Amino acid sequence: MAGQTNAFEMAQRQFDHVAGLLHLDPQVAEILRWPMREFHFRIPVRMDDGSIRVFEGFRVQHNDARGPNKGGIRFHPAETIDTVRALAMWMTWKCAVADLPLGGGKGGVIVDPATLSTPEKERLCRGYIDVMWRNLGPRTDVPAPDVGTTPQMMGWMMDEYSKLVGQYTPGVITGKPLGSGGSMGRTEATGFGVIYTVREAMKHLKLDPARCRAAIQGFGNVAQYAAIGFTELLGGKVVCVSYWDRDDRCPYTVSKEDGIDPRFLMSITDQYGTINKSQASAAGYRIEEGGEWIRKEADVLIPAALEGQINAETVQLIHERVKLVAEGANGPTTPEADEVLRERGIFVLPDFLCNAGGVTVSYFESVQNDMNYYWSKGEALSRLDDKITTAFEGVLEMSLQQQVSMRDAAYMVAIDRVVKAMQLRGWI
Ligand code: GLU
Repeated sequence: MAGQTNAFEMAQRQFDHVAGLLHLDPQVAEILRWPMREFHFRIPVRMDDGSIRVFEGFRVQHNDARGPNKGGIRFHPAETIDTVRALAMWMTWKCAVADLPLGGGKGGVIVDPATLSTPEKERLCRGYIDVMWRNLGPRTDVPAPDVGTTPQMMGWMMDEYSKLVGQYTPGVITGKPLGSGGSMGRTEATGFGVIYTVREAMKHLKLDPARCRAAIQGFGNVAQYAAIGFTELLGGKVVCVSYWDRDDRCPYTVSKEDGIDPRFLMSITDQYGTINKSQASAAGYRIEEGGEWIRKEADVLIPAALEGQINAETVQLIHERVKLVAEGANGPTTPEADEVLRERGIFVLPDFLCNAGGVTVSYFESVQNDMNYYWSKGEALSRLDDKITTAFEGVLEMSLQQQVSMRDAAYMVAIDRVVKAMQLRGWI
């Protein structure tokens, strides 16, 4: 999914670079540059026509020194063991940088969920748990939604797990629907978290959000709430979003010079993130084929789709006005492109800091499940803002102190915390 770049090699390269800066003991580095456990398995699913289809699934548990493994499950046709390994490793750093008492994990199934009926999706979700349940649990490994998976799917997985263990266990999975153990604010959490970090970065860069324009890649859960947050919380203008068109099998950029209305666009977007082009153009939006979002004249770029999108080629297309890149996606920038951004003096909010809002509210969800007492949306979002702002401040301080990029600084903070936990537990 990362084009030319293997996502896991990219994650290891980023880690090796900072392990060098930290003079990390090579034996300790060797533990951290690989996942602790990996599960590769097959999930037979009875299809609606009576046939059986076998899906390939993965769960990778990268490191649990700081607490149970935590991270989403993706349903995507281009999933591989290496994308899941990279994403699991990034989850370890994400939970550590946000100072959550959790480790890192990730799951995936090679499937395009849009090709399945609702009952087939339910059977696939239950099948995933039937294979994995012995190695999941509130104190073991706690999945969540990601690309291609939804709160309803988390609800089915929680139900299957609860049946297998013979006890209602909401804390086995997060991102569940409201009314079924979900937390208020979880839907908005990742996109709003992105915007809280953008707000703090803008203060640091002395930019006035009300005068700023943002271009967003993607229009899934993260992009939608990043667009709402940028316009409604910061008062800025979002000039475009992009999406993958399922029928035409290509990306489109949907723009409006005087600013898009994210809530209107959401109202004409289907559950897989495809925007209705005729309704958008009737409402005065410009629709361009391809990845035009990256060329837009904007102050802020928010890649909020898949990994490897800002690479050696596309980085050349970035407009000279851009001052800030906020990585809503996991791994959107390749190391080559990162170097170019650094040379151009563009401030980068690295993925595992920028998009830590989702897992932070997932953590709040599991805390509420344990207490069996649920917070208001205001409480969940204000605690999220506190956590994310504190994480940003810690990383910025490290970056200024050590004279390194925000990405390297985020890695330094995270690796320090994980190594410390491994020492305290007597592993090293
Ligand atoms: N899938 C999200 C991420 O990449 C959320 C993970 C979670 O909530 O556990 O951060």
